[in-house]
Amino acid sequence: MQIQIQRTSKSRISEVDFNNIPFGKVFSDHMFIVDFDGKDWVDPRIEPYSNLSVSPAISALHYGQSIFEGLKAYRFDNGEARIFRPDANWLRMNKSAERLCMPQMDQNMFVEGIRRLVEIDQNWIPEKGGYSLYIRPFMFATDEYVGIRPSETYRFVIFTCPVGSYYSGMVNVKVSDHYVRAFPRGTGYAKVAGNYAAGMMPLKHAREEGFDQLLWLDGKEMKYVEESGTMNLFFVIDDTLITPVADGTILEGITRDSVLKLAQDLEIKTQVRKIAIEEVFEAYNYGKLKDAFGTGTAATIAQLNSITYKGYKMQLPPAEERPISNLLGQTLDDIRHGRTEDRYNWMLKV
Ligand SMILES: *Cc1c(COP(=O)(O)O)cnc(C)c1O
Repeated sequence: MQIQIQRTSKSRISEVDFNNIPFGKVFSDHMFIVDFDGKDWVDPRIEPYSNLSVSPAISALHYGQSIFEGLKAYRFDNGEARIFRPDANWLRMNKSAERLCMPQMDQNMFVEGIRRLVEIDQNWIPEKGGYSLYIRPFMFATDEYVGIRPSETYRFVIFTCPVGSYYSGMVNVKVSDHYVRAFPRGTGYAKVAGNYAAGMMPLKHAREEGFDQLLWLDGKEMKYVEESGTMNLFFVIDDTLITPVADGTILEGITRDSVLKLAQDLEIKTQVRKIAIEEVFEAYNYGKLKDAFGTGTAATIAQLNSITYKGYKMQLPPAEERPISNLLGQTLDDIRHGRTEDRYNWMLKV
């Protein structure tokens, strides 16, 4: 694949205060673009980050034919730039694309697009602990047609943002006992734009009540724990790590998958199964709920401080008294900064 490269004539990097970066509001110098002409992906290019020009009739704007991904590049302690598991994001992007009748991408274009973009803007990867370069690939429909049918043409874009940590402290979540995020045979497993729009009003209400995030229950019985915000969930009951099984309504996180693999290596007892919110409460009441945390690219591992369901609040142990999430978080961090062996070949070299 031949990527045309047009470099910016004036980098904006000196304008950025790398000690104080708001999440998702600072954009690196360049972006990657490739267009689907109805048959092939054509004209891959890297150009200065700027506004896009599109028809007001594209179905991405009207009917949500739009999908995205999220991953990060890290700086090893020796200075090398590395990207965490881009192949896994490529697979998931194609799953999302299939669900919305959008074209598949080949692995080389997706991964090489990310790699070249990060290579060009590698000075934007912060060095500070806990910081990284967030990478946002996305695809949207571009046909100029206001009727409802899958578009024939599409655009795929990648931009990047230097970021610090997503949550500044521990997270207080409210169990959503009315609205749901996903339902059986819907689009919960896919990273499609509309899923997030639908969650914004319930989240806004929860924020007004002082919570950081919502915990979603299953859309059929409102009984089983699904996920929280853009994080998958893990609970530690006694000495067993439990995460809900992903059977169509849960977005299968790459951080979730990584945590499961590491837990196995670290010989932590693990179960992937349905878990009812009542079971979490019962464990809490018996003093068996030792830890609860969310996993996702933005937040990495975010310990839950409290979980509130129908007005009843479970207060979880202090951060330092949670050996399992601390160990998993540390191990993941060590891999991402080249401090420990990368046994799974997760860190793609730029
Ligand atoms: C992206 C996302 C996650 C986490 O996935 P990662 O690959 O770990 O970043 C979890 N839940 C939802 C709803 C998401 O959109």
